[in-house]
Amino acid sequence: MSITKLQSPIDQERLTRLVQLSRDIGQANRNLSILAEGNTSCRLGLGQFGVKASGSCLATLTASDITVCDTQHILSMLDTEHLNDSEIEQKLMQARVEGLGRRPSCEAVFHAWLLGLEGVEFVGHCHPTSANQILCSPRAQDFADRRIFPDEVVCCGPASVLVPYVDPGLPLAHAIRDRTLHFIRIHAQAPRLILLQNHGIIALGASPAAVLSCLLMASKAAEIFVGAASLGGPVFMPSHEIQRIGARPDEAYRQRALGL
Ligand SMILES: [Zn+2]
Repeated sequence: MSITKLQSPIDQERLTRLVQLSRDIGQANRNLSILAEGNTSCRLGLGQFGVKASGSCLATLTASDITVCDTQHILSMLDTEHLNDSEIEQKLMQARVEGLGRRPSCEAVFHAWLLGLEGVEFVGHCHPTSANQILCSPRAQDFADRRIFPDEVVCCGPASVLVPYVDPGLPLAHAIRDRTLHFIRIHAQAPRLILLQNHGIIALGASPAAVLSCLLMASKAAEIFVGAASLGGPVFMPSHEIQRIGARPDEAYRQRALGL
């Protein structure tokens, strides 16, 4: 628990919420992640953020499994085209505030960048069995671009970013940044859901509830997609109906009630 003693009361409360979000994602019956799969993060004050330490387990996460990092230090890695494994290791360890905490996840780079997007305070990444059925298939682009039921639009947004498979770590962080900026240029808003081909999914939100709702709904949508595909589908929602869901006042109310 020592790493949180340096934080302000507001940041400590955020780190406590991050621990709870991690455990919620790691719940075994949800099939979102097993063992040390996945990672989580939250924005903190003083240009810092908290991220899961490498090798820790979401289901049983404690405060000592979160490492507080200097955001700019981590983001400076994105300006470099290539770093070798030992340089990455060194940079990750140097980014720890006061040199405290365990080695941050190698995915800390994409977490730092995503937490810089407007309205993004928490990020959750996991490897759901349901979504990976599609992300390891030729239908991944359909799952990213199309929607099949209204609650998928409400919780996951009107479309998702799809990132082709690249090596986890710095190449993945570069690919996520480039694809997300492309999505923002087209949709004029940050995505809620990012899909990583042959890998997993990332949810972004203003609260832990928004992140969890997005991950759970993405997982449910993936199950429905696979079932519908086995029956010759899915039948996708028309784009004007997707826009209509996004504009309905009762859906906006429901989004606020869900903390989205
Ligand atoms: Zn992953």
